[in-house]
Amino acid sequence: MKNIYHSDIYKFNTPVKSYWEDNSQENLNLEKLTKDVKSEIVVIGGGYTGLLCAINLIENHNLDVILVEAGKIGWGASSRNAGFNCLPPSKMSFKKMQSIYGNDETKKFYKNSVEGSNYTKDIIKEYNIDCDVTGNSNYVVAHHPNKFEQIKEQARAYKDEFEIETEVYSKEEFNQIGHGGTEQYGAFSYKPGFAINPLKFVNGITKHALSKKLKIFEHTKVDQINKDNGSYLLKTKEGSIRSKKIVVATNGFYQEGLVPKMDGRVLPVISNIIVTRKLNDDELNAHNFKTFSPIANTKNLLYYYRKLPDNRILFGTRGDLSGSDQSNLDMSKKMEKFLKDIFPKWSNINIEYNWRGLIALSQKLTPSIGKIDNEEIYYGFGYNGVGVSAAPWTGKQLSKLVFSSNSKDLDISKIYKGLPKKFIFPKLRVFYFRLAVLFYNIKDKFNI
Ligand SMILES: Cc1cc2nc3c(=O)[nH]c(=O)nc-3n(C[C@H](O)[C@H](O)[C@H](O)COP(=O)(O)OP(=O)(O)OC[C@H]3O[C@@H](n4cnc5c(N)ncnc54)[C@H](O)[C@@H]3O)c2cc1C
Repeated sequence: MKNIYHSDIYKFNTPVKSYWEDNSQENLNLEKLTKDVKSEIVVIGGGYTGLLCAINLIENHNLDVILVEAGKIGWGASSRNAGFNCLPPSKMSFKKMQSIYGNDETKKFYKNSVEGSNYTKDIIKEYNIDCDVTGNSNYVVAHHPNKFEQIKEQARAYKDEFEIETEVYSKEEFNQIGHGGTEQYGAFSYKPGFAINPLKFVNGITKHALSKKLKIFEHTKVDQINKDNGSYLLKTKEGSIRSKKIVVATNGFYQEGLVPKMDGRVLPVISNIIVTRKLNDDELNAHNFKTFSPIANTKNLLYYYRKLPDNRILFGTRGDLSGSDQSNLDMSKKMEKFLKDIFPKWSNINIEYNWRGLIALSQKLTPSIGKIDNEEIYYGFGYNGVGVSAAPWTGKQLSKLVFSSNSKDLDISKIYKGLPKKFIFPKLRVFYFRLAVLFYNIKDKFNI
């Protein structure tokens, strides 16, 4: 199978060192597949999407399911994201969405997004997962005075058109409840929303899945899928699985060649995170950093940040464009500068963690949920970096689709349904993305 980025980012058997790994002392140590087995359904990918699809197939439809994960369970983005339960899983403005799909489908898309956020909240409660929930809303911060009108308009549309609870704060008001700094010119909040420790979340989901007798194989990468006597035969390094239906839940870690009809449609994008050392009260007060809710700003290449429960600052952005370990280090240095430019009084605070992972974009700019024509292969991917709320919900929707084998039965906005278009000259998609990054960097320089 072919990789889009440097092989360093696909070291499935190497745990990714992160703040979460150091703060979630749990190793579930599940078995690896070393023989030939059979199952009605096989789920490829052990992140939020795959796990919730498998759990719902077992709990609601009593089906026989195997889940395979190339690394340790949750190894992909689900164990290393920033933990923002935010909205919506799309890179398309609501105005563009309305112009392409109409008002009703756009409303339904936002309604489904809110359902996703609430579903994440519900499973934390129902599965009794202690994942360090903090905050009770999301904030969007205007990084430049020009952007305050834009966020006021966004807050109005969320409230009036999508019935999402919002509140607008002037620069001075947000300084009292959120934070200060050089790039804070007012903000709005929306609910639902909160922040979690994503690794504790994925481990908690896995423990629930195991209690429901889901068969999970870690360190078991599917290398090839063949058709054989009316079923699928999935080959792994040390074994195989024969199955009637396949769910592909590999999101940004999809490797070209696994399912030819999915090739050339996903654009994996690297997202990088840095985490500072613990800050004391004086240091936090220097920028009035009060809130524990997740924050994103209005840059085109947005910054996202939050205060962690132990008073460190987590800061993330899109960026590292090659995937090598060296480019991750280089990116973390650049990000340290971005962070200190917006919070200059923290200029001598060290960075103690840096890591990255892959999110999935596509030409659709919204997630994709569906079934491949004339095959029993199902997919759910493309959350645009908003998978904490969208991926578990997608897993649940996928389970209904796998059960009924008919996407017409799925009562969700049609904006989610179906595969995105293939990129023209798919090999060039990272190059196209680099051009887009260049373009958005220029727009951000001029605050357009
Ligand atoms: C740095 C970073 C920060 C993020 N921050 C946020 C955030 O704050 N809020 C938010 O909502 N979203 C965030 N995201 C996005 C979010 O983490 C993802 O959208 C979500 O985790 C996707 O879940 P998933 O289960 O679909 O995919 P993943 O969790 O990526 O799981 C896919 C799995 O498939 C496995 N796999 C791939 N190929 C094979 C194969 N051939 N055989 C077997 N297994 C295979 C991989 O090993 C991987 O574990 C972030 C992502 C990153 C990388």
